[in-house]
Amino acid sequence: MVLADLGSRLRGALSSVESASDDEINSMVKDVCTALLESDVNIKLVVRLRDNIKAKIKTELSPEETTANKRKKLQKIIFDELVALVDSHEEPPKPKKLSTSTKVINGKKKKVAKTNSHVIMFVGLQGAGKTTSCTKLAVYYKKRGFKVGLVCADTFRAGAFDQLKQNAIKASIPYYGSYLEQDPVKIAYEGVTKFKSEKFDIIIVDTSGRHRQEQQLFDEMVQIGEMVQPTQTIMVMDGSIGQAAESQAKAFKESANFGSIILTKMDGHAKGGGAISAVAATKTPIVFIGTGEHVGDLEIFKPTTFISKLLG
Ligand code: GDP
Repeated sequence: MVLADLGSRLRGALSSVESASDDEINSMVKDVCTALLESDVNIKLVVRLRDNIKAKIKTELSPEETTANKRKKLQKIIFDELVALVDSHEEPPKPKKLSTSTKVINGKKKKVAKTNSHVIMFVGLQGAGKTTSCTKLAVYYKKRGFKVGLVCADTFRAGAFDQLKQNAIKASIPYYGSYLEQDPVKIAYEGVTKFKSEKFDIIIVDTSGRHRQEQQLFDEMVQIGEMVQPTQTIMVMDGSIGQAAESQAKAFKESANFGSIILTKMDGHAKGGGAISAVAATKTPIVFIGTGEHVGDLEIFKPTTFISKLLG
């Protein structure tokens, strides 16, 4: 079931409660759980959600209450539990503008950085939407006044540098990459060093993906990470991959220890449930969602906003 259908199923379940009888409430809870399972949310999470909802109903709903009150409380209970499902309770690092001071070096006034550039390393499987999301994020921060640079450390996929370069030129974002150099670790290091020396606030490094999770890919990520020392590592995950999301996220977490997730392709046919389970499995916040192929199709992710929208 795709996300839009999940939304309407959940709305339908909630509005089916008319008299708030025990039978009606039980059947509504069952409907909510079935809809989540059909959207690929992990069964253990659904069972936990169901138990939490039932426990809250027991303590928060009294038989003396009016039906209208019961319905209001039920809606709040379901809403809160759905939010808890997508909320990692972790705060991702926030980029800050570089602070500089002027120093006299060899008789000349020079600007020196007092803080470090925010280096963001992107990881994920090929086709997940990494390169597209790198540019989207660069544009997002550029619009907010940050000086952003893009580094293409993907030497595995032919055409990766061209793709990033074209996106970067279109969006007027400075970029770094090489057609000749084969070593992604070297490119990443050189690019980050260059942009740091030019006092960029944010440096985004696109790494290569593979079709499958492979040792070589993980080794490369670890090496790039060691060289560029990212402030933030973002895993880009295709929102439509369903149950596979959880094991994928766990495998990447072990190697890349990413601290944030961008879920892509949340337009179209994303089920979303698999990715939601991945958040829970790795306790990692989703920071943005990709909602289309265009550079502006990136939305900041907030658990309450996401669930409010889902429930209409
Ligand atoms: P990479 O291999 O991980 O770098 O993936 P790409 O950035 O090249 O993206 C793979 C495909 O997914 C491209 O056709 C993108 O246009 C498409 N794509 C990326 N993000 C989104 C998104 O949020 N929505 C949709 N519909 N397509 C996306």
